[in-house]
Amino acid sequence: MKQIILTGDRPTGRLHIGHYVGSLRQRVILQNSGEYDEIYIMIADAQALTDNFDNPEKIRSSIVQVALDYLSCGIDPNKSVIFIQSMIPELTELTFYYMNLVTVSRVQRNPTVKSEIQQRGFNTSIPVGFFTYPISQASDITAFKATVVPVGDDQAPMIEQCQEIVHKFNQTYGETLIEPKIMVSTNATCRRLPGTDGHAKMSKSLNNCIYLSDDEKTVREKIMSMYTDPNHIRVCDPGCVEGNCVFTYLDAFVHDGDFEKYLPEYKNLDELKDHYRKGGLGDVKVKKFLNSVMQEELAPIRERRAYWENHMDEVMDILQKGCEKARQRAMETMAEVRHAMKIDYFNPNDPIIK
Ligand code: ATP
Ligand code: MG
Repeated sequence: MKQIILTGDRPTGRLHIGHYVGSLRQRVILQNSGEYDEIYIMIADAQALTDNFDNPEKIRSSIVQVALDYLSCGIDPNKSVIFIQSMIPELTELTFYYMNLVTVSRVQRNPTVKSEIQQRGFNTSIPVGFFTYPISQASDITAFKATVVPVGDDQAPMIEQCQEIVHKFNQTYGETLIEPKIMVSTNATCRRLPGTDGHAKMSKSLNNCIYLSDDEKTVREKIMSMYTDPNHIRVCDPGCVEGNCVFTYLDAFVHDGDFEKYLPEYKNLDELKDHYRKGGLGDVKVKKFLNSVMQEELAPIRERRAYWENHMDEVMDILQKGCEKARQRAMETMAEVRHAMKIDYFNPNDPIIK
């Protein structure tokens, strides 16, 4: 069986380091591993409109930003197909048929949908389109016959729901769709990176992000004003590492060689954490170390972004070609789905009137 990846992001703003450690960094590794036959990376504009329908300009401008972020991180258009969701009408068509396979109460039980409804203050006025986005996401995944979906752990309930839809479809209409598997980071911190406020997950909608496109100075400022341990007032005070953003981000970003290079008096992160817990290690020192580590990883991303920002025609060309390729694939699946559902009325090989 072909190994196919489908993954993506909502164009609701520029991408942040949560996207990077949760999914993007992994995508680039998978892309370059040579183990996948096809890789599709979707800019989910239709999904973004479900809770931003009154702000189309934001979605439109963010599409370009997300594309720039992809290319800056090393997504290679020769190896991965970057496309825009709404340019593939088959995805909407599939959603319409999948809606018959899911109950309202099942979507209501989806924990991510539940918390997002609360976060957005929808209460009783939930847009139907937003409510059904897990079904639309199942269309995105299955249209490309994806076997693997690399995402952050907030997406686990979506993949489960997709698996159920595939199961129900195949059971009802015959084996047609492929059941995907979720792929989350092996590093637990990376599966749901918290925001710089230390609370919820880093999220474009919550304004608690370090963006991949932030310049060096902005990143440094965000790190230096980051939430740590509110009880760690004097350097000599014992400090708490759990829930302390600076240590959480070190968990996500630090590499073996970083201590030798930037903080040689410690062998590794465990030693640094121990010292902080005991007391005698100040926040500023740890923050400066984090800044060095993160700047090293973000600098090449920034450099590539500067290149692509000066080659916008090429970026638009990549997107257009990606949409064409993706559409071709989705049309093939749609034809199979129509056949399985017996709605291919003018198929010469299977006429209605025999
Ligand atoms: P929005 O607030 O508009 O929903 P978002 O920041 O949650 O934006 P999405 O576009 O919804 O970003 O998510 C894209 C991908 O990035 C998904 O795979 C998601 O799991 C992953 N992701 C988003 N935020 C984080 C995070 N803080 N940590 C790890 N992965 C994340
Ligand atoms: Mg989200």
